[in-house]
Amino acid sequence: MASVKKKLWENNGTFKSNDGIRTASLNFEKGQRTIRQHKGNGFKGKTKTHHQSLDDSLEGELRAFLIDEGALHTYDDLTKVNPVTPTTVLKCLQARYKEKVFYTQAGCTLVALNPFQPIPHLYTLDVMREYHCASHPQEFKPHIFIAAEEAYRNVQGQVEPTNQSLVVSGESGAGKTWTSRCLMKYYAIVAASSSSPKCQDTVERIEKRVLDSNPIMEAFGNACTLRNNNSSRFGKYIQLQLNRSQLLVGASVQTYLLEKTRVAFQAANERNFHIFYQMMKGGTLEQRRDWRMPCDQWFTWLPIADKTVEEDCFEETTDAMTHLGISKGKQGHIFQILAGLLHLGNVSFCPPTNESQPCDLQEKSKESLQNTADLLQIPEELLLSGLRLRALKAGKQSVLLKPCSLAECSVRRDCLAKVIYAHVFDWLVAFINNSICADTSSWCNFIGILDVYGFECFALNNLEQLCINYANEKLQQHFVAHYMKAQQEEYVSEGLEWSFVRYQDNQCCLDLIEGSPTCVFSLLNEECRLNRASDAKQFKARLEKELSDNACMSWDKFSMQPHFTVSHYAGKVCYQIEGMMEKNKDPVPLELIHMLQKSQDSLLQGLFAQHNIEMNSGRGHGKVVTVVSKFKNSLESLMKILHSTTPHYTRCIKPNPDCRPLTFQKEEVIVQLEACGIVETINISAAGFPIRIPYPSFLQRYGLILNSRMWIQSINVNGPEADKDVLSPMVADVLNLVLQSQSLDPSNASETEPCSSLVHCGKTKVFLTHHMLELLEKRRDRVR
Ligand code: ADP
Ligand code: MG
Repeated sequence: MASVKKKLWENNGTFKSNDGIRTASLNFEKGQRTIRQHKGNGFKGKTKTHHQSLDDSLEGELRAFLIDEGALHTYDDLTKVNPVTPTTVLKCLQARYKEKVFYTQAGCTLVALNPFQPIPHLYTLDVMREYHCASHPQEFKPHIFIAAEEAYRNVQGQVEPTNQSLVVSGESGAGKTWTSRCLMKYYAIVAASSSSPKCQDTVERIEKRVLDSNPIMEAFGNACTLRNNNSSRFGKYIQLQLNRSQLLVGASVQTYLLEKTRVAFQAANERNFHIFYQMMKGGTLEQRRDWRMPCDQWFTWLPIADKTVEEDCFEETTDAMTHLGISKGKQGHIFQILAGLLHLGNVSFCPPTNESQPCDLQEKSKESLQNTADLLQIPEELLLSGLRLRALKAGKQSVLLKPCSLAECSVRRDCLAKVIYAHVFDWLVAFINNSICADTSSWCNFIGILDVYGFECFALNNLEQLCINYANEKLQQHFVAHYMKAQQEEYVSEGLEWSFVRYQDNQCCLDLIEGSPTCVFSLLNEECRLNRASDAKQFKARLEKELSDNACMSWDKFSMQPHFTVSHYAGKVCYQIEGMMEKNKDPVPLELIHMLQKSQDSLLQGLFAQHNIEMNSGRGHGKVVTVVSKFKNSLESLMKILHSTTPHYTRCIKPNPDCRPLTFQKEEVIVQLEACGIVETINISAAGFPIRIPYPSFLQRYGLILNSRMWIQSINVNGPEADKDVLSPMVADVLNLVLQSQSLDPSNASETEPCSSLVHCGKTKVFLTHHMLELLEKRRDRVR
């Protein structure tokens, strides 16, 4: 209290509300706190004084103000902050960040603030072992290792083994990938350390291989962006496979929506995928000669960003590849293909002298075309015609070649690069899976780690953002379903009175995007199936006609461009329609695939040998598989897996947009807290009773607290009489005894809470807070 008084003293005993209009003054007379609210501008205005009758918002603010700030950093769990408001939660996180405390529990969710600075002592082997060996790791300071250990212990399960998922979310640069890596390292140590010396060798090998998949996937799938120097441009779900003895025996990786456009287009001050820079910097003289990459070679697709980025990882990447079993020969093929793509980026055309002719190659591009053809091992002529001639079907057998416009030539060039890069990436992922995946017979459970892109809202948003935000809506729904809906529905079914905590159900938004019969996705797909030149205005009219009824859909009247606005749970996002249909089709001209199938490079040729031409060209009779339907399908199978596991949520927070060490910007953080509904989560966790124990189990465990062992024999807790009427009085006796002794204990006097805030008795179960469970456990230990 002292610091509150001090604060008020400094503020002349008054508190001014955020709107600056209302003030309140406090009196600490005779130990009583009297609060007076003054309306009007400060004391000088016409003041009206009320005793204890503050309006709600002022009350909230005032209490936030009164929180003892000196102690704020000590709140390990945000549910203990009182009251829970965005302001108090923010203050608490800020105070902890200042004290270099980066992890805070928010009920069932862990909040991880990015220090943007190495904190080695937090992640040492000793710390890992400490968390792993503790009998109650939950009693330790909040840490990602608690979630890790909880998941690890849960896998074994008391009743039956349950698979686990660690869902790591947050915006770009918040620390998701870092956290996922940290989790993988934890399991690599913990699951190996419990192994017997006999199998140490296999475990060592497999855990190193699993870890080695990270540098490879990051080299090929990460890039320097404005938000994060090492931004993952794909989503990833890795399943760590454990055998019956809880040893890590393998893993499998699933990736989502690689941003392949980056290979041919980089926004201002952003870069291409790391691997290209690593090759430039780390390749030997001989390799560079093979790749036709002299030191002064300039590549259009290799922009240099202002930031300094770690590029000296080529050896690390190739070592990891070798370790995973990708032979030096295969690696040679991969890098040669990538070098070919860089040269392809330097190929450009100019309008033909004669209009009926195909576009001319620019003079300076001649060598680049030759290099590309050599490196991709495709005849130069074939490559050139692939880039500037479109094949049109003329009759059943014959094909007509028609010159492409200048713009079309560039689109085809970019398309070629994207399709090759995406196939190389998929090949690598498949190889990694082959190398680290255990036989189905040798593992029985898994711990999944999900590292996906967070909610995105840029100045311009298109299909990529729609997919990413849709994925986040799905995850949010999973979260809500798991924690909030389930909790509240159980209260109702147990006949408990419960003032419902309001949570945002995002079903309406999901209906808009993926619902049936008509939704944004279905309309987009329909447009692609029609196989006509898409018109943005027309499509907007269609959306308006079909989907205006949905409350999550709106239109900005002043926008010049065709667009639609979706109200996501994390905020409104305006999507531009121009280009969206084309992106959804993602057409790859058939003749380019045919061309790649003729490559003399065995790897490249192999990548496209199985290519299902009908599906991707959009011209066959088969159903067109669009980007959104592919994405929706892969997301649906992910959600199925997630639903079958026990989830653990970690929300990574980026404390400032510039990745500056130890810098906490309130405005930045509050937006992210709102975007992940953290205040709602805390409210429901704080107000809720997360522990539910059926009456018989409760009495079996805590019955002995009653100090009379007789009853255990006298009553069969599993028998037909084990219903609420018989058992609940006994449960009540146990609880009363514990609570009474708690309030008699002078050291606890200040903490005594009313019984109803700790426990509720439902029809078949006792609902408890963690605190009550602790009290019961302590008491039980003493009695035994
Ligand atoms: P995301 O995957 O969410 O986009 P990253 O995991 O790549 O973000 O994190 C961005 C950067 O932040 C990392 O490169 C690293 O420098 C830093 N970082 C993140 N988490 C931590 C941490 N716990 N300790 C130290 N640095 C971190
Ligand atoms: Mg990442």
